[in-house]
Amino acid sequence: MIESTKKVSKKGVSPMMRHYLEVKEKNPDCLIFYRLGDFYELFFEDALTASKELDIMLTGRDCGMEERAPMCGVPHHSVEKYVARLIEKGYKVAICEQMEDPATAKGIVDRDIVRIVTPGTVLEASMLEEDKNNYILSLFLGTDKLGAAYTDISTGEFYVFELTGSPKEIAVKFRNELYSIMPREIVYPAGYVGEEDFSLIKKECTGYYCTPYFDWCFVPKSALQKLEDHFQVKNLEGFGMEDMDAAAVAAGALMSYLYETQKSAVKQITSIRLKKQTEHMYLDTFTRRNLELCETLRSRSKRGSLLGLLDHTHTSMGSRMLRRWLTEPLLRFFDIQNRLDCVEEFVKKPDELETVERLLGGIRDIERITARITSATATPRELIVLRDTLEIIPLLKDAMRDFSCKGIRQLLEDMVDLSDVATLIRNVIADEPPLTIKEGGIIREGYSEELDRYRDAMKNGKNWILNIEREEKERTGIKNLKVGYNKVFGYYIDITNSYKDQVPPDYIRRQTLANSERYITPKLKEIEDMMLSSEERSYKLELEIFNMTRMEIADDAARLQKAANAIAAVDCFASLAHVALENNYVRPKLNNSNKIEIKNGRHPVIEAQSSRERFVPNDTYLDNADDKVAIITGPNMAGKSTYMRQVALICLMAQIGSFVPCDSCDLCILDRIFTRVGASDDISQGQSTFMVEMTEVASILHNATPNSLLIFDEIGRGTSTYDGLSIAWAVVEHTADVKRLGAKCLFATHYHELTELEEKLQGVKNYHVMTKEYKDEIVFLRKIVPGKAVHSYGIQVAKLAGVPEDVIERAKVLLVTLEQNDINRSRDKTAEEEPAETDETKKALLLMRELQSTQVDKITAIEALVFLDDLKKRYC
Ligand code: ADP
Ligand code: MG
Repeated sequence: MIESTKKVSKKGVSPMMRHYLEVKEKNPDCLIFYRLGDFYELFFEDALTASKELDIMLTGRDCGMEERAPMCGVPHHSVEKYVARLIEKGYKVAICEQMEDPATAKGIVDRDIVRIVTPGTVLEASMLEEDKNNYILSLFLGTDKLGAAYTDISTGEFYVFELTGSPKEIAVKFRNELYSIMPREIVYPAGYVGEEDFSLIKKECTGYYCTPYFDWCFVPKSALQKLEDHFQVKNLEGFGMEDMDAAAVAAGALMSYLYETQKSAVKQITSIRLKKQTEHMYLDTFTRRNLELCETLRSRSKRGSLLGLLDHTHTSMGSRMLRRWLTEPLLRFFDIQNRLDCVEEFVKKPDELETVERLLGGIRDIERITARITSATATPRELIVLRDTLEIIPLLKDAMRDFSCKGIRQLLEDMVDLSDVATLIRNVIADEPPLTIKEGGIIREGYSEELDRYRDAMKNGKNWILNIEREEKERTGIKNLKVGYNKVFGYYIDITNSYKDQVPPDYIRRQTLANSERYITPKLKEIEDMMLSSEERSYKLELEIFNMTRMEIADDAARLQKAANAIAAVDCFASLAHVALENNYVRPKLNNSNKIEIKNGRHPVIEAQSSRERFVPNDTYLDNADDKVAIITGPNMAGKSTYMRQVALICLMAQIGSFVPCDSCDLCILDRIFTRVGASDDISQGQSTFMVEMTEVASILHNATPNSLLIFDEIGRGTSTYDGLSIAWAVVEHTADVKRLGAKCLFATHYHELTELEEKLQGVKNYHVMTKEYKDEIVFLRKIVPGKAVHSYGIQVAKLAGVPEDVIERAKVLLVTLEQNDINRSRDKTAEEEPAETDETKKALLLMRELQSTQVDKITAIEALVFLDDLKKRYC
């Protein structure tokens, strides 16, 4: 068999295959699904790929060449499933459809590509996740900035943004954007590949599905033209994009890509939304993950994350919006207050909240149905779903008629009257249309006179046929004369052999069977023709009316999207209010005096999960004066990490407009929240590299401002004690110093030496987590109180964790020896009045500790050698 289309000459091949080869030549990067009757077939290398990836049988097809072409195929009715699997695996698929009915086509059937399916451009519900957007992003490098545009064509949202700074800064910002957008596909100019300027950005794109696209689509003039044509505007000022030239180019190029893949004018995209860097808080990848905003660290599931807790939405649109809110906390005072007002209104009106939630439960995904309507893929049933949904909107508005806050009033206004669309659907489409659009029954009776006539003819035809049977029985006297139907001969009269002689002369014989003969009469055929043609005409007319209706609704896409957006926001507010009521959250107060003051704060997720242990609330006070840096000490498992995350989460929740888990709080607006966890604590990374940790610390110290909140959880663990301690020490100094950074910071550490900083530096305070010793066991009290921890209780924690008794006993002995050594050491020091401990003596002491704690009789000779080598490396 021939494997590649490249080796095939078009000479001598069958006309169909020649057409196929032309199509493939134009779309070399796609797997071509070529429609042949009831199947989509793939040929040559496409067939080899698909048969392997989809696990379907590879066959061959004669196509006028010496050898057979490799071929495999999938039935047309289950094509979606196969395409989905290929897309999932990172392939592009081009659907080549029959453009005319093969039964009536003259010569070779006209076929053409109707759509190119790529990961970022899918529309099928089966390939989309309900509560997640499916974004495709395009980027363009302007002078000193990066322009980007991204859209979800299954909902019609379209955003643009620009990133500025040094190439390195742009790359970092871009990484953060990608992490919040999570595009399924990234499009950039093919000419960038291999270019030096692009290398940093290219690196950030690793792991995403990338599509290098025609350079000429990114030529500013043509890209802008494309954009202006699409929105039918003379310039982009109306969108506030006059200074965003790079983003506009990215947007125009993206539009070209969509037109090409969709083979349509993507009418679902009705406007552009600007994302300004100053309106949203950037959350870096690490912070998002560490705070488990949208998914948990371990299982990467939504359950157990903050989103999982806050998402009580009832519509997919709301669910997607809440996810966006969570990844883009607000920065502007009035934006935050506005959202809080809306949530508060629901909290104060629990009855209305309940009604609204119940109504939202009946609302379906208007955004996605609208996108399917504009792309002419929506089915009659989807229109009915839309109708039912639209009919709920007036009830929803009515349920909120007494709401007075500005935000909700605006949303009510945005829920524009769509009763005309609902009425249109009700008038045209039958209540229970069939699944497919080919077999009629879509259009409501009484809508079209012409259609009803055809339908009558079809129905009456059946009666006429019954009449004929009766009449012919009478006329011929044949008692068992029957009128039957089959696909090949249509209607016929069946007469058994015993009555053969009585057959009248005007009967025309069509078929002879073992026991009977089948006849037709001119009258029978006349009725049959009328029935068949009415059926054909009626189906055709139904389809026409349906398509017209769908197009008419498509013109209302912008209105539908506006209402959808407002409903999604109501859903989010109701959800936040629901969670607030259920968990006793309070409205956060906002200040502009740089302080974070929380009374009895709780960790929202752990509080909701813990069943055994009641959650112990804790206070927090941080400002930019005497209480900038809180050094938190305490044994392992005491609750340090939980406490620090709880503070970050409370601040973050406030800035998305949510109520917060505490008795009361007064918060300043943070421009950034950073968290870093010491390398050895970050097991999920799999790579406990000190280097990664330090790179991240560096980036925090570069990017933080006095308005940021920094959370350091045991940083410096990935290296030797003294290195780690020195780094931690220096980080605290830098953070506390107003001349250098002067930002609010929570710093958990096992380096007890750091507690000395309270005395030495202005703005540093010690805290520890209270514990109690009870009969040699440690009891965690989970209360954060001023002052440093006295013991680390490492051995008790080890015991709790189930370390064997003999090891625990041995450790206790060692601990005593070690502590004795420490005391001796300080005594020696005072005796000899050494001015300061030199590096040499420090090393010697450490070396001694390690030797003491080694059980020489329990290790092998090889282990001893390795140990010795290691010691030498570290101490000499
Ligand atoms: P550390 O960071 O000090 O080692 P963690 O913050 O990881 O400790 O907390 C250890 C465990 O204690 C957590 O699994 C959590 O469930 C529980 N915990 C922490 N803080 C509290 C609290 N305030 N109330 C109840 N349980 C808590
Ligand atoms: Mg911890």
